[in-house]
Amino acid sequence: MPIDIIILGSGDSVGTPKLACRCETCELARKKEIPFSRLRFGILLVHYLNSDRSDTTNILLDTGPDLRFQLLRAGIEDIDAIFWTHMHYDHMVGFGDFYRNRGVIDVISTEETLNFIKNFRFKVNVNQIPLEPYIQVNYRNLKVTPFFVLHKSALTKPLGFLIEDETRKKIAITGDTGFDIPEESLKLIQDASPDVLITDMFTDADTERFKEVHMALSEAIRFAQISNAKETYLMHMSHRCRPHDELEKYLESYEHIHVAYDTQKISL
Ligand SMILES: [Zn+2]
Ligand SMILES: [Zn+2]
Ligand SMILES: [Zn+2]
Repeated sequence: MPIDIIILGSGDSVGTPKLACRCETCELARKKEIPFSRLRFGILLVHYLNSDRSDTTNILLDTGPDLRFQLLRAGIEDIDAIFWTHMHYDHMVGFGDFYRNRGVIDVISTEETLNFIKNFRFKVNVNQIPLEPYIQVNYRNLKVTPFFVLHKSALTKPLGFLIEDETRKKIAITGDTGFDIPEESLKLIQDASPDVLITDMFTDADTERFKEVHMALSEAIRFAQISNAKETYLMHMSHRCRPHDELEKYLESYEHIHVAYDTQKISL
């Protein structure tokens, strides 16, 4: 059955525009908003369970600080499950927005990440589903395989997810990562040859500073090229990147690599 991937937030931990920043990218974002403005990280997967699309599984990848507004904006407020990539402010604090909103919500990540978030005592009833990296599990009608990525500053060991539906359509989402992910993870993605890869691109300048934490544009392009993915979308972009239209123009020569933007819907 089809899956819609909805980009809730394509920005980095501070978002674009960054508060008090007057750079060209931030000023354009203030003036023109989407696709120039970027909220903090969030991806929503809507998996349709029947042909009239009346029944869905709604899965959220991470719970950033803009979550409440993002779900209202997407018109999808009822979430079945949260898959957490890692613990960093911009991927977790929005979880508190589920306070008093739900019965029980499935939360899926490593045991370490699930234990970490417990310390915050968010008042949300959860069903914890701990995963082991590289071990495939069935979640509802999906096959889910978590894999380690490279994100040195993360507060818990960072994960990406490979998700396959019942028609063998595959989505790989790395979350925050540098280029040099573990060999086993790269092989998992390459062997899967995902229909869609969503990966990290923090800055369009080639800089050494972020190598073990995020990718620069040239690395993200290289990662897309070696991944065997059919289409790649770059996100987690900071205001250090040139504005959206210039990035798109630059990527025109790379047919299957795209700049993600807030509210974008990718249908599989
Ligand atoms: Zn992040
Ligand atoms: Zn700026
Ligand atoms: Zn992070």
